[in-house]
Amino acid sequence: MVYMEYRYDVVIIGAGIAGTTAAYFIARNGFSVALVDIKSEENIGKKVCGDAVGEHHFIELGLEKPVIGEDATGIYEGVRVVSPDNKYYIDVMGRGYSLDRQKFGYKMYKRAIDAGVEAFLKHYFAKPIIEGSWVKGVVIRDRKGSEKVLRSKVVVDASGVTGVVRTSLPQDWWITERIPKEDFNITYREIIEGDIQGIDEKYAYIYINVDIAPGGYWWLFPKGGGIYNIGLGIQWKEGNPNPKANYEKYIKTSLKGAIRSVIDGGGGLVPTRRPISCMVWNGFVVIGDAAATANPIHGGGIGSAMISAKTASDTISDALLRGDPSMDGLWRYHVLYHRAYGAKQASLDVLRMFMQKLSNEDYNFVFRSNIVSGEDVYIMGSRGVLTNKIFNRIRALLTLVTRPAFLAKLYKVKQYMDQAYSLYLNFPRTSEGFKRWKEEENALFNDFKNWLKSW
Ligand SMILES: Cc1cc2nc3c(=O)[nH]c(=O)nc-3n(C[C@H](O)[C@H](O)[C@H](O)COP(=O)(O)OP(=O)(O)OC[C@H]3O[C@@H](n4cnc5c(N)ncnc54)[C@H](O)[C@@H]3O)c2cc1C
Repeated sequence: MVYMEYRYDVVIIGAGIAGTTAAYFIARNGFSVALVDIKSEENIGKKVCGDAVGEHHFIELGLEKPVIGEDATGIYEGVRVVSPDNKYYIDVMGRGYSLDRQKFGYKMYKRAIDAGVEAFLKHYFAKPIIEGSWVKGVVIRDRKGSEKVLRSKVVVDASGVTGVVRTSLPQDWWITERIPKEDFNITYREIIEGDIQGIDEKYAYIYINVDIAPGGYWWLFPKGGGIYNIGLGIQWKEGNPNPKANYEKYIKTSLKGAIRSVIDGGGGLVPTRRPISCMVWNGFVVIGDAAATANPIHGGGIGSAMISAKTASDTISDALLRGDPSMDGLWRYHVLYHRAYGAKQASLDVLRMFMQKLSNEDYNFVFRSNIVSGEDVYIMGSRGVLTNKIFNRIRALLTLVTRPAFLAKLYKVKQYMDQAYSLYLNFPRTSEGFKRWKEEENALFNDFKNWLKSW
């Protein structure tokens, strides 16, 4: 068989948020980039999603904000988190957008193309090109089965939650770490047109209820003009219900006649955990959902996919300039990403596992007794830490409401969160220290999981 062969500095598999962001930044730095996706151009940007993203991500990354009427349909002033008994809520303030997801994704794709990126659409990743312990490119296949060889100095896996490239590599490479299914949420969501009463449209609504969404939550995000994005995420775990069944049973029923028509429906997986431990190999980098960069608590992954893409792009460009795209040449990506987001993810992953153990009663208690304010949640969400100030306030209040067992648990969780944060912040500066770091990481998380099991 005769293959068409192409050469690039960088080949990126996946033209989602992570892939298009990385393609744009790397091309802007003057390198040749190929961007591969299964989708046709008309479908680029399409993704089952809650469509909500915080404004701060665009400011922090120096990217153009979404524009209402173009790639956004509305603005949120904050998130309203509602208790299981529906009696209480916490408002977490912070501006965000409801995106027109397809237009937003397409805009990012177009920006990459305009920066000089070459696209191979309607092509899927077939296999990696491996030489020794290096990734040297990929073989891609079109829908008729004809193959092309794309050789490159660096291959980037931005294929989303399946991580098709990294999972195809030799299993003894650190990069192939398997993610346990409990670390994912299975989701179902619909975009509907209707007239939902009692909603303040300046908020994105998150409803906590372990009967409806065990290990996750259900959401109602107004998109403006009588359109709503409504869905739920459930921890992927033996015995947990099917999200679509629970959507029909609880959510649709509760909205009764308010839904006039369903515009779109679908599901997908969201990684809700800390990032994979090793995100680079010789000539290889993983970004976005493929590296599990979404937020462990709320599953939002658009902002962090962009952060991982930007930190990876800076590292890749630097490595190419130095002529060293080896694992050690690319290692700094970990350090930059963990400083920007990964350490927070690790800390919030501890909190996520704790929260997945709580009952509706526990949650009602937390809301009812006012022990956590919107500002506390904002600080926890943006910095990933349960600060001493917050903890001391919670402690004082908990003493008053006499829940010492809960306080003791929370204190332990705070300690694990702090340790996880610091472990990721002190990620080894070279690959040499990785094995020891990984042992410490395993020990910390196994210890925490065992403690949770002992309740
Ligand atoms: C129901 C749901 C609701 C969500 N809500 C929100 C939200 O409100 N806010 C938020 O911030 N995040 C949300 N997320 C998470 C967010 O959508 C993801 O974290 C984000 O899209 C990750 O971007 P990515 O580029 O890593 O992956 P993706 O967006 O999944 O992109 C991967 C790309 O790779 C391509 N690809 C896959 N396999 C191959 C292959 N073999 N060959 C070639 N191409 C391939 C795909 O076609 C796709 O274009 C939600 C997720 C789900 C499932």
